Amino acid sequence: MKKIRIAFFDAKDYDIESFNKANTGDTIETSFFETRLTEDTVRLAEGYDAVCVFVNDTVNAKVIDGLVSGGVRLIALRCAGYNNVDIQYAYKKIHVVRVPAYSPYAVAEHAMALLLTSIRRIHKAYNRTKDFNFSLNGLTGFDLHGKTIGVVGTGKIGRIFIDICRGFRMNVIAYDKYPAKDSGITYVSLEELWEKSDIISFHCPLTDENRYMVKKDTINQMKKGVVIINTSRGALIESHALLEGIKERKIGAACLDVYEEESDVFFHDFSGHIVEDDTLARLISMPNVIVTSHQAFLTNEALQNIADTTLENVASYFEKDCCSNEICYRCEKLPQCTQEHLSKCF
Ligand code: NAD
Repeated sequence: MKKIRIAFFDAKDYDIESFNKANTGDTIETSFFETRLTEDTVRLAEGYDAVCVFVNDTVNAKVIDGLVSGGVRLIALRCAGYNNVDIQYAYKKIHVVRVPAYSPYAVAEHAMALLLTSIRRIHKAYNRTKDFNFSLNGLTGFDLHGKTIGVVGTGKIGRIFIDICRGFRMNVIAYDKYPAKDSGITYVSLEELWEKSDIISFHCPLTDENRYMVKKDTINQMKKGVVIINTSRGALIESHALLEGIKERKIGAACLDVYEEESDVFFHDFSGHIVEDDTLARLISMPNVIVTSHQAFLTNEALQNIADTTLENVASYFEKDCCSNEICYRCEKLPQCTQEHLSKCF
């Protein structure tokens, strides 16, 4: 039987390890490319049945045309978010599948890890004690107990994050474009969330509508000293406005696992190089900003689930006539796609 050939882009050592471990059958053949998928690299996919891409690969109209003309029939995202794919353009040209949930715990726990690190100055203390500096000056934090946290997006990750926050006896308020009925979550308007929250954490997808939901005028509505956590997508926040808010002491701290211009820097080693992005460099230089490079998903459990589900998605697409994890632009228009995915989206 002819094997299904998948070309992986932006493949890292941990991807190769987890996919090799999961690919125990003899129907799928994998090739791993270190380079990202872009208009310049799309020709590498020629002759493959599917490409497997991650958050910073470019899947715009030109890339889709290149994939289709190279004979590729499936784009398998090894992530949940698909804002980097022009799914409207892809419709009726090439199918798209994703991994809708691989470990919401990984991301929610990372968000809390960033928050605790930031407000208890663990990043500062770690460096000090490594240098045998046992001074406590400048390390004063604050209790989470009793503070109000505003959660934007109450899907799989947001809800787990809410549970974690409740464990700290925080007062949780939330905003979601499609509030969950009977969830016991206290929903408020975005304006109220900006005004009342001591801490704000983002867990919604990036869409055209909410790009830059944090910008100068929304920052002005927030409390002085607010802590912002973003483990969702970078472009929810206008980075320059965030930097200005920090310089003006309006924003007390920022915990960023994502950054709007991350695709050129994240996942690469730039130590020993000059980073061209002045906003990112200035943010990183701030004592009250913590940046991790889109690391929230990175746990053993998540990697295993990503590999298992991606391989199942590919096998299901080529061997059956449907894939429950297919997405198209029509699915995106609804909070929960009402199609039962008993057949392909088109
Ligand atoms: P989900 O689909 O389960 O939940 C998303 C929630 O956001 C839904 O309740 C939806 O109604 C809500 N929403 C949609 N549009 C909104 C808007 N404009 N304003 C407010 N809420 C809106 O998704 P999830 O699994 O919880 O993931 C959330 C996001 O986390 C993903 O879209 C992705 O961007 C990000 N993510 C990041 C990492 C990482 O490693 N940093 C990993 C996985 C996911």
